Amino acid sequence: MAESVSTLTPAARARVQAMMEYHPPLGSRDALRLDFNENTLECSPKVREVLDGISAGSLTRYPEREPVEAIVAAHLGLHAGQVALTNGVDEAIHVLFETFLEAGDELLLPVPTYTMYEVYASATDARVVHVQAADDLQFPFERLLAAITPKTKIVAIANPNSPSGTVATRAQLLEIAQRAPQAVVLVDEAYFHFYGETVMDMVGAVPNLIVARTFSKAYGLAGLRIGLLAAPAELMRWMRRVLSPYSVNSIALACLPAALADTAYLDWYVSEVRAARSDFEVALDKAGVRRWPSYANFVLVEIGPKHAEFVRLMRNAGVLVRDRSSDPGCDGRVRITIGTREQITQAIKALNEALDVLKMGRETR
Ligand code: PMP
Repeated sequence: MAESVSTLTPAARARVQAMMEYHPPLGSRDALRLDFNENTLECSPKVREVLDGISAGSLTRYPEREPVEAIVAAHLGLHAGQVALTNGVDEAIHVLFETFLEAGDELLLPVPTYTMYEVYASATDARVVHVQAADDLQFPFERLLAAITPKTKIVAIANPNSPSGTVATRAQLLEIAQRAPQAVVLVDEAYFHFYGETVMDMVGAVPNLIVARTFSKAYGLAGLRIGLLAAPAELMRWMRRVLSPYSVNSIALACLPAALADTAYLDWYVSEVRAARSDFEVALDKAGVRRWPSYANFVLVEIGPKHAEFVRLMRNAGVLVRDRSSDPGCDGRVRITIGTREQITQAIKALNEALDVLKMGRETR
């Protein structure tokens, strides 16, 4: 019998066809990586030891997340039922949106902000309501409050925010939660360690507050893909229905207790970044480059119409930086991750040379 081959191809759901695409520029990153806000060095040596001890046999088992979730919950001062580990904060955002967003709901999003909120929202039938920050990129608190409606179902706030590095205060976050009791308020604390302020202690006490954290940044474990959600137990029960029980792999689970326990490494890395951040800010001010005050491990700078050329010149000098020009309200702006002081010295040199080539030094402005 002759085989017949159909020319029809299965169609993706209409929602998926309309989904926003996101292709992070991850290719050829064998240089100084100041483009993805990762730890620019390496993880704790204690984590390295755990990795060295992982047996081939242990990989045959499905990962068991609960014991590690209990350790993480205790570390955060929460109950085990209030914490879920996720495959990075990206999975946390996906699960949260799939759990709560219905057709007709609104996701309230101060912008510019982290791209994946928009991406995962576009897979749902909810509507995204943007609240654009002013030119100073400060958290648009009053306008966000004014944009709350009975349909608001999630308010997603990265704190510190990316790409701006600016922050919302604790009082502002708690007031938003109070003014939108029908909505989940997600506070994404991916960059918490470089800032130091948190609302984690309010999880459980505020019925609609959910906090996310990642191990991709200060802890230096972006490749392992681990993040977490902290939420009131009643909300967590719904999210666990959506969350795969196996989405956090056993290597990540094995490493996590060691990463949490090595506070000396974490403190060292964070203080190194903070010192490098102030070195970088001084250099930017000296070069006459506009910058936004940052509470995270990156700084947003104003390059202007030559932004793409600047990024190319930096790459040629071995320093990867991230053009954020297509972010709302960020035309001509470039985000530069802060690494160690030594790395930032290299970045400052490359920056000054690039500015010279572009004739953007202080004397020509
Ligand atoms: N939230 C924010 C604000 C981020 O900037 C990032 C990383 N780019 C993430 C979440 C994603 O973190 P993870 O690696 O844990 O998925």
